Amino acid sequence: MHVSPTDRRRPENVAGSATRRRFLVGGAGALAAVPLLGTAPAFAQPRGVADPARPPVLDGDTPGPDEAMRRLVEGNERWVAGELLHPHQTVARRLAVAAGQLPLATVFSCIDSRVPPEIVFDRGVGDLFVVRTAAQTNDDLIQGAVEYGAEEAVTPLVVVMGHQRCGAVSFAVDALNDGTEVPAHLVAVVEALKPAYEAAKPLPGDQVDNTIRAQTCLTADQLREDPLLAPLIGEHRVRVVGAYYSLDTGCVEFMLP
Ligand SMILES: [Zn+2]
Repeated sequence: MHVSPTDRRRPENVAGSATRRRFLVGGAGALAAVPLLGTAPAFAQPRGVADPARPPVLDGDTPGPDEAMRRLVEGNERWVAGELLHPHQTVARRLAVAAGQLPLATVFSCIDSRVPPEIVFDRGVGDLFVVRTAAQTNDDLIQGAVEYGAEEAVTPLVVVMGHQRCGAVSFAVDALNDGTEVPAHLVAVVEALKPAYEAAKPLPGDQVDNTIRAQTCLTADQLREDPLLAPLIGEHRVRVVGAYYSLDTGCVEFMLP
């Protein structure tokens, strides 16, 4: 029986569902479309620079939450220092993951153009599931996407990441402070941020920044209580952490539970 990289990660997946294969492997059509590796042009890493991220699909690498976190921390340190290695951004990598994926982590963050997860963690193709909404506001569809990463791909780490000077949070705080009406579907964003707004309102200091951090913590708590994620967390197969990204320094500060 053919065992896909995903199957190797969890033995019980060997007889996995057709649905799982369709989502993660891409189906027979995707497999047939993979060109021969030997015919690909050699777009290698720069000379003398080792790829710090082992290609999980090729070698069956199965990092746990601690190792996944370590790799994200190291990637962020490179971003902060201006020493990006751009791992897994080659044609060879694209071909390697075309038939399957084992992302290190799911990053649930804001839509802000200044906070692209693959860049701030110096990662590449096939490394991250990325879910982005305004101010990392959660709903059933979003939570289902995070569940998918953890349950179907056994992604060991979920990072909920807010960021400094979040425009969406600032917009919501202004609207709620002033009692102003907001147009169209922005109402849903403001409503989703109300619990964080209420939690942060009595706190000393910058109201927007406190709301950003409260929103991150509350969203991470929601995910920890998710009926599908909670058992995986209990088995130490998945960890959910909050994080705060500084626009000024590029540094990601993890907010461990
Ligand atoms: Zn934002």
